[in-house]
Amino acid sequence: MKYEKLAQTYDELSSTTKRLEKIGILSKFLKQLKEEDRDVLYLLLGDIYPEYDERRIGISNQIAIKSIAKATGSENKDVVKKWKEIGDIGKVAEVLIAKKKQSTLHKNILTTEKVIENLRKLPDLVGKGTVNKKLSLITELLTSASPIEALYLVRTLIGDLRIGIQESTVRDSLAEAFFERNKESTEKIQHAIDKTNDVAAVFDVIKKNGKLKDLEKLQLQVGKPIKVMLADKAKTIEEAFKKVGKPAAIEYKYDGFRLLAHKTGDSVILFTRNLENVTKQFPEVIDYIKKYVKGDSFIIDSEAVGFDKKTKEYKPFQEISQRIRRKYDIEKIQNELPVEINVFDILYYNGKSLLDEPFEKRTELVSKIVKNHPYKIIRSKKIVTSDEKKAKEFYEMALKDNQEGVMFKNLKAEYQPGRRVGHMLKIKPEERDLDLVITGGEYGTGRRGGWLSSFILSCRVDSAGKTFTEIGKMGTGIKEKATEETDSGISFHELTEKLKPYFKKENGKMVEIKPKIIISVTYQEIQKSPNYNSGFALRFPRFTALRPDKPLSEVSSLKEVKKDFENQKRNWRYG
Ligand code: AMP
Repeated sequence: MKYEKLAQTYDELSSTTKRLEKIGILSKFLKQLKEEDRDVLYLLLGDIYPEYDERRIGISNQIAIKSIAKATGSENKDVVKKWKEIGDIGKVAEVLIAKKKQSTLHKNILTTEKVIENLRKLPDLVGKGTVNKKLSLITELLTSASPIEALYLVRTLIGDLRIGIQESTVRDSLAEAFFERNKESTEKIQHAIDKTNDVAAVFDVIKKNGKLKDLEKLQLQVGKPIKVMLADKAKTIEEAFKKVGKPAAIEYKYDGFRLLAHKTGDSVILFTRNLENVTKQFPEVIDYIKKYVKGDSFIIDSEAVGFDKKTKEYKPFQEISQRIRRKYDIEKIQNELPVEINVFDILYYNGKSLLDEPFEKRTELVSKIVKNHPYKIIRSKKIVTSDEKKAKEFYEMALKDNQEGVMFKNLKAEYQPGRRVGHMLKIKPEERDLDLVITGGEYGTGRRGGWLSSFILSCRVDSAGKTFTEIGKMGTGIKEKATEETDSGISFHELTEKLKPYFKKENGKMVEIKPKIIISVTYQEIQKSPNYNSGFALRFPRFTALRPDKPLSEVSSLKEVKKDFENQKRNWRYG
């Protein structure tokens, strides 16, 4: 189809902030799509592949600027100048293409197929001459683009579409376009998306058969990552029992990172909760899965926890977090920072999805197929009880064992990928912490000159993790100097380097940063404050860990912040 049609739809979508209007516009557009236009669904979400695929467009502002210059016959510095004036590279492309178009007559018609074809070549380019190849692929598109097409092309390239569309908007628009939009249809479509992580695959089925029931044919596939089921919080054991029912399963809440292991035949693949493939980083885990878990094919859900080789004591997450990203010296780090896999759920077994089976049945299977081998792979420590005293003892034991707390689980509940559900609850000791994203920074002076020494923290506004609002500034908990590789924590220099690829704008000492790097912070108190957009400020925020395992959609939300603020007031009043 013509790319112009899509660009116009983007434009209409960005002209309203009202969700229902967006659904109206999008459903009208979806209705007109033909079967062969399926990939347009990825473009609508600013992507070129399904969510489970790790290939992303990943074009820097620098390359975008160079391509605009090349396509419009301008100098790089003029494009940069315009960018400083307008502050939006997409708009710069729009303006400069409009100028050029007045003086040229010929224009090829740009199609979505051509856009996808060129964009899909980008992530595969590596090695020598990559930049030039990227430039020519992008310039080819821009030279055929109309101003509005150029605007959205460039925004797609830099991953900032700004049309306010999330997966849930696409879900509701599919329901509106092809069925009656109600609880049943949106739920069925959501389930289909959850199982496939592929909106276009869901569109295929809808377009072909047009029946909601047919969506049930879409199933989990071993080897394709799925979103994990998320937990809610409970304050007390009493509250937790009330929510999940009695008896409940209570498990250790391990302080590690989520790991899903997929196995078919001889192949084992590991994914994080972020849908990131980490198979290469954990060769020993592959071994444990092959040796100690029975079954031809399965997907198991677990937490990987670090421990000290000598004392056998469990270590906090931040001490092993570097293993998730580490791509070299794997054997060395595997020896220094070993992990134990704690299996707590199973989603698929020998050709059959278990998502709809009750938790107690799924874990019964886990106990049949996972053999306990302490410090390699074990079944999560668990009791099933209705007794609050026993629950409390178990909770205290978990804390004594250096774990974060406990998880309460409803014995009858199904597994809901990607959902924060009321039938899996965590209880942790009352300490205040949040996971926030860095959206700005300030260069230091003196000893700290040359790198950022203070960081602007933001919490999440929408559920998808596209908009954020500032909640404070942090400089504590970060070290002056980088120390040993295996040392935990981070220095100002290291954190600045990590943030650099996401710098958006520099203004004197201040830098605006694209929300990407998520960190855990503790703090003493939340105060109302006019200094930050959120209306709140953290008192004494302190860095505790990088959270490369968390997606933006799991940054603490403004709602949570407000709730914490309210709770803290209540505690003061009565405590
Ligand atoms: P939070 O990250 O604080 O929202 O807590 C939820 C996380 O706890 C899950 O995503 C898991 O990574 C982790 N976790 C640790 N132990 C368990 C367990 N026994 N069952 C489920 N999740 C667990």
